[in-house]
Amino acid sequence: MTTQPTASHFINGAYVEDTSGTEIPVIFPATGEVIATVYSATPAIIDQALDAAKAAQKAWAKMTGTERGRILRRAADMIRERNHELSVLETYDTGKPLQETLVADATSGADALEYFGGLAATLTGEHIPMGEDWVYTVREALGVCVGIGAWNYPTQIACWKGAPALACGNAMIFKPSETTPLCALKVAEILHEAGLPAGLYNVVQGLGDVGASLVNDPRVDKVSLTGSVPTGKKVYAAAASGMKHVTMELGGKSPLIIFDDADIENAVGGAINGNFYSSGQVCSNGTRVFVHKNIKEVFLKRLSERLEGAVLGNPLDEAVNFGPMVSERQMGIVLDYIAKGKEEGARLISGGERVDMEGFFVAPTVFADVTDEMTIAQEEIFGPVMAVLDFDDEDDVIARANATDFGLSAGVFTRDLTRAHRVIGALEAGSCFINSYNDAPVEAPFGGVKASGVGRENSKEAIQHYSQVKSVYVRMGDVEAAF
Ligand code: NAD
Repeated sequence: MTTQPTASHFINGAYVEDTSGTEIPVIFPATGEVIATVYSATPAIIDQALDAAKAAQKAWAKMTGTERGRILRRAADMIRERNHELSVLETYDTGKPLQETLVADATSGADALEYFGGLAATLTGEHIPMGEDWVYTVREALGVCVGIGAWNYPTQIACWKGAPALACGNAMIFKPSETTPLCALKVAEILHEAGLPAGLYNVVQGLGDVGASLVNDPRVDKVSLTGSVPTGKKVYAAAASGMKHVTMELGGKSPLIIFDDADIENAVGGAINGNFYSSGQVCSNGTRVFVHKNIKEVFLKRLSERLEGAVLGNPLDEAVNFGPMVSERQMGIVLDYIAKGKEEGARLISGGERVDMEGFFVAPTVFADVTDEMTIAQEEIFGPVMAVLDFDDEDDVIARANATDFGLSAGVFTRDLTRAHRVIGALEAGSCFINSYNDAPVEAPFGGVKASGVGRENSKEAIQHYSQVKSVYVRMGDVEAAF
C-alpha cells in the first residue's frame, strides 16, 4: 500500500497541495523510516479552508437531519468495508499494533459516524406552554467548527469530532497532529465519497501555529481540541477572546483503585489495559494504580507473569500486541520519566529501558512502592509506565486519588457493590469504570473534569457542544406596554 497521500490537505471536496509550507516528514515509528511527506498549511491554504467551510455550512444546516444522517451512516459503512486498509495506514501513522488498530480505530470512527448519523434526525426543540402564549426552541448549528487532534488516535479523533459536528449541521476544519497527519485525509475522502457536499469536512496540516491561526480566525465558531493541558490552556484562552465555544479533551493521571476483595485476574487485566494498550499512549489511562496492601505482592506477581505475554515487534504483524512509542521524541520523554522513577526510589518490577531493537520501543514498565510525591505519580508520562502505590484505608485512598489537578478518568476494582458506587461517587473524574478500565463506546459520554477538560465527546451529550438553542416567545394576544 502507498502511504504517501495524494496531497497534504483536503479542502472543498478535493486534495490540495502547496509545497511552499514547511515540510513535515511522516515517520513509521517501528523503523524510523520516512513513509510520507506533507506540507504545513500556508496562510493561503488556511484561508481557502475557512472560506470553503463558511460557504458550505448554511445549506448543509438547512438539509433535514435524515438527509445529513444518511450521508454519515453511508460513510460509516464505507469505513467498515475498508477497515483493513485504514487500519494498516493507522499502524503506519502511529506505530500501534495492527492487532489493535483493526478493532479500535477506524471501527470506533465508524461507530461515531453511525451513532451521530442516527441522531441527526432527532435533534428537535421543545414546546413550552405559557398559558395562551408559548415558547418554542430550535436547536441550531454553531457554524464553522475547528477540530485539532493529538497523535494517539488520529482516525478516531477525526471522527469523534467530525461526526457530531456534521450531524448538527456544522462544517468542520480538522487539523491532525503533525506527528500523524495521514488518517484524517482518508476520513475526509470517504465522507465526500459518501455524498458529503464539498467544503463541509476539510483537513489542513500543520504544527501548533496552524492550529492557532484557525482558533483565532473570526470565521470560526467552535474549537474542539484533543491534546495536552498546556496546549489546552492556550487554545481555551484564544477561543475565549473570540467568545467561541470549546471542547477540551486533555491529559490525565488517573487513579485505578484495587481493593483486597477484587478478582485479582480481572484487576490485573484492567491495570494492563489501562497502562499498556497503545503502548500506554492513552489519555484516560489509570497510571496511578493504588493496590490494597493485603494483595499487593500477589497482584505484582500475577502482573509480572502476565507481562511476559507482551509480544513486541513489527506492529504490522498481527501477532504483535505491543508497539513502539509514536516518535523518538516521545520515547525520550518516557525514558526520562523512567530515570526519574529509579532516582526517586521506586522499586522497578519490570521493563525500565529502551528495547534493543529497531524503532522507538520502550519495554512495558512497572514500578512498585511508588509514593504520592514522586514525579512518576504526579505527571502524565503518556507511555508504558505503571506506578503501583499502596493503600489500606478507603477514605485515605480517595483523598490521595483526588489530590491532582487532573480529572479525566478513574477506576475501581472490588466485589463489594456498595463500595464500588460509593468510591466512584467520591472520585473527581469524568469517565469512570467499575471492575473494568478504558471502555469508551460511542454511547457513553467521554471527557474530563478539573484540568482534564471541558465538555464531553460522544453520546447525546456531544450534541450540546456542537449546537445551540434559540428560544422563540409567541404571543397570541395584544402587547401591553407602559406607554
Ligand atoms: P499537544 O498538546 O502537544 O498537541 C495537540 C494538538 O494541538 C496538535 O495537533 C498540535 O499541533 C496542536 N497545537 C499545539 N499548540 C497549539 C496552539 N497554540 N494552538 C492550536 N493548536 C496547537 O498533544 P499531543 O502530544 O499531540 O498529544 C498528547 C496529549 O493529548 C496528552 O496530554 C494526552 O493526554 C492528550 N490526549 C487527550 C485525549 C482526551 O480525549 N482527553 C485523547 C488523546 C490525547
